[in-house]
Amino acid sequence: MIARHTIFQNSLMTALLDGIYDGEMSVGELLGKGNFGIGTFDALDGEMIIVDGVCYQLRGDGSAQVADLSQRSPYAVVTNFVPRITVDAPPGMHRSDLSDLIDEVLPSANYMYAVRMVGTFSSVTTRTVVKQPKPYPPMAQAVGSDAELHFSNVEGVIGGFRTPVFEKGISVPGCHVHFIDADHKYGGHLLDYTVDKATIEMCPGTDLELRLPLTREFESANLAPEDLDHQLHTTEIKGRD
Ligand SMILES: [Zn+2]
Repeated sequence: MIARHTIFQNSLMTALLDGIYDGEMSVGELLGKGNFGIGTFDALDGEMIIVDGVCYQLRGDGSAQVADLSQRSPYAVVTNFVPRITVDAPPGMHRSDLSDLIDEVLPSANYMYAVRMVGTFSSVTTRTVVKQPKPYPPMAQAVGSDAELHFSNVEGVIGGFRTPVFEKGISVPGCHVHFIDADHKYGGHLLDYTVDKATIEMCPGTDLELRLPLTREFESANLAPEDLDHQLHTTEIKGRD
């Protein structure tokens, strides 16, 4: 039922939490690993969303622009999206309902899933990380200044991944999705949304290709913090799921 499918990941969520915001993988290299995905840019300069093979940089003011192929990323998850499972999203569905809905239609919760939702949304709330000055603060501090943006009656794409709990630390457990509008003018890390009319497509992932950075910063990072759960909650789950 589930076909073998590879999801590629650059670096670790725990590295990002520890303030490792400069990577050594370019957008051009990332696009060679997949036509769909999410992540961030060097210095935590905005959120990344890759849709249909184009990488967009979503800045702190909510604006979107096509990323340059030479820009680098300290963290990203990408895959070549194959919509193997398709369901209609119920009108009025919120972010908190998505995991339950996915659980109902998934053949198993024990695989990774790339998730793409295309349609119209009566409301979308985003938040976007902003470029950090050196020395880089840990991510729990860096996200403190993020501004929330609200959009009404928008058409666009929600894209990201649903990751099993056993990947905690490597990635963010649960659903982690970003948004970009249909005209590719604005977007960000999704905090909440209300579906007007949308279709959810899912691509099960069975294989993880993990690439660890060859940087001095990564070599000396603390990748096993005792308060990992708390840090994940502050940066990603509480309003950053
Ligand atoms: Zn995000």
